[in-house]
Amino acid sequence: MPVAAFLFALATLTGLAQTATQNTAQPAPSPTPHRQTPKAPKTGSSQPIPAPIQINRMVVELDPAHGGMDSGSRISDTTVEKDVTLALAFRLRSLLSARGFTVVMTRDADSPAEPNAAGSPLTLDDRAGIANHAHASACLLLHATGSGNGVHLYSSELDATAGAPPMDPWLTAQAAWVAQSQQLEKQLATALIRAGVALVTSSASVRPVDSLTCPALVIELAPEGDAPDSINNPEYQQRVAQAIAGALVFWPSRVQPPVRLSAAAAAVTTHAAQPKHREAQP
Ligand SMILES: [Zn+2]
Repeated sequence: MPVAAFLFALATLTGLAQTATQNTAQPAPSPTPHRQTPKAPKTGSSQPIPAPIQINRMVVELDPAHGGMDSGSRISDTTVEKDVTLALAFRLRSLLSARGFTVVMTRDADSPAEPNAAGSPLTLDDRAGIANHAHASACLLLHATGSGNGVHLYSSELDATAGAPPMDPWLTAQAAWVAQSQQLEKQLATALIRAGVALVTSSASVRPVDSLTCPALVIELAPEGDAPDSINNPEYQQRVAQAIAGALVFWPSRVQPPVRLSAAAAAVTTHAAQPKHREAQP
């Protein structure tokens, strides 16, 4: 029997069998889908199949927090946070590019050249949108503070365990990735300690980290020692950046897809409809 004829016969038989099964519970629908398209029998379920989550393993996304009118925190009389985060981002971009990474930045100037429709340079949702569209293997949200010492690493506080679909996918998208974010946190922590940088690791849902569909960390740079302006020390900043970039070299072969595909996929598609939010300072 030719293959096409065999498939047609199989499809017809399958259709009849399904109709017979349906007949025991309710009247047979007429005509059946199989009879409308006998030459293209369906295989598998009619349920939508979640799109595979793409990870661009050699892409790192950097978000130097604040910028433009939003200076962030005042670190000293002459230093504001937005300038420190951008300086650290430039160092990281240079080191990561030299190691073969493509670096996506939410801004590479005081404020982005293209304000959004609301006239704001970049909302937190804009920043999350840029991160999510990059499908990066690591998304690093850079902050700075005058208090404390060394580097503070934060991963999301969201529960990493799989469960019921979240009520607001946009504000809980990171849940699927928390396990990966915590792995990334360990890698960076080890490298920073080895580089002699004082370190605090914790979990804190600094916005917009919970909306990110990538392994994501908040990296907050604090002064080295007592003087607030030591945060601008080029040797110090470079040592921190080198430790982070050096740890990321091993990350592309270790990063894994998320545990809850549906939640992450839903968040990506619904983020545009969400209301804007204010930033919570770390
Ligand atoms: Zn900040």
